[in-house]
Amino acid sequence: MEKVAILGSTGSIGVSTLDVLARHPSQYEIFALTANRSIDVLFDQVMAHAPRYAVLRDESSASQLRQRLKEAGSDTEVLEGEQGLCEVASQAETVMAAIVGAAGLMPTLAAVKAGGKVLLANKESLVMAGRLFMQAVEEHGATLLPIDSEHNAIFQCMPGIDRRGLGAQGVRRILLTGSGGPFRQRPLDSLAAVTPDEACAHPNWSMGRKISVDSATMMNKGLELIEACWLFHCPPQKIEVVVHPQSVIHSMVEYVDGSVLAQMGQPDMRTPIAHALAWPGRMESGVATLDLIMQARLDFEAPDEQRFPCLRLAREAAEAGGVASAVLNAANEVAVEAFLAESLPFTAIPRVLESVMECFENVEPTSLDDVKAADRLARERAAALIPEYKRD
Ligand code: NAD
Ligand code: MG
Repeated sequence: MEKVAILGSTGSIGVSTLDVLARHPSQYEIFALTANRSIDVLFDQVMAHAPRYAVLRDESSASQLRQRLKEAGSDTEVLEGEQGLCEVASQAETVMAAIVGAAGLMPTLAAVKAGGKVLLANKESLVMAGRLFMQAVEEHGATLLPIDSEHNAIFQCMPGIDRRGLGAQGVRRILLTGSGGPFRQRPLDSLAAVTPDEACAHPNWSMGRKISVDSATMMNKGLELIEACWLFHCPPQKIEVVVHPQSVIHSMVEYVDGSVLAQMGQPDMRTPIAHALAWPGRMESGVATLDLIMQARLDFEAPDEQRFPCLRLAREAAEAGGVASAVLNAANEVAVEAFLAESLPFTAIPRVLESVMECFENVEPTSLDDVKAADRLARERAAALIPEYKRD
């Protein structure tokens, strides 16, 4: 039985992962489940799956869960904090890295350093520390499998990942598709007034709130562009973003002979999750069949950078290298949180990011401490800007 830890098991990806694993009980042992503060959901998950460990972010939530599990007769051990997360990540054979945001970096890296199979949903860890992260993957012989649907699609359309870059495999470019989110056609002058709930109502995918807002600004596609550069060893110029509103094609790879391979399927994360779990094999995921006759049409258009300035900012950060993308990611996390708390208008998100990016001195990080320092400073600067935009 393969021992699986799910970091962020109470989230959207975590729940989908449990759903897939539950379809194959004889193959996988659920070794650890973790959450930020959702004690109730984690309690139910632990009672249903009886993992060896459960981890909560803070001490008081952990002691509450410990007490409740004891009363319920469970023998799952409860750990806490980043240390607890890193401990379970390094002991499992397979780790689903599905914590949202920068908080996922250290636990995901702990999994990489243990040299096991790492299923990467937490794109932010590659955005923040791409070079150091990929060096660790290589040094420790970890197997890194992309869960982000686009990256999983690209991976499926290539013979493998080649460190020498795309050219070594005859790939001309990657076509990274994105739906354009809920505001693709909304009048530009109405965007300033959109609410968090409107931004989180994605037309095709059901996801956590942070990534849903990122999809609405198209920062998600920007973060994915950076993620793809690291995963597939390619420069940003080799990646073209294509808006495809139906989310049936999950991305494409174009070869030098003119062939374009696409991976298609329902917009359901259980497909990439099952693919990565079973890789190099295949297994049932519970995802419905794709009915192309019902689907009838697939549309494509160029992204509108005036409507989605975050996409341009991410491309600039990818081209700049160094800590630029860590800075962008940190400022984005702060701005999105402020938007979700109704302290920042939607259209001010890219303005905060641009201001933070403009006054940053870019350097090549030589250690995780450099990355963390850039992340911290960017957060401080973004937080200081929020009240200014609130008054607009
Ligand atoms: P979510 O908000 O639904 O879940 C996040 C999980 O992380 C929860 O279990 C939460 O308890 C935990 N968490 C949050 N903050 C934490 C912290 N500080 N410390 C420890 N744990 C913490 O998010 P999601 O939509 O499942 O996304 C998870 C990751 O997967 C993100 O990086 C996202 O970009 C990526 N991703 C998600 C989807 C999707 O369809 N949801 C698709 C592609 C990639
Ligand atoms: Mg994606």
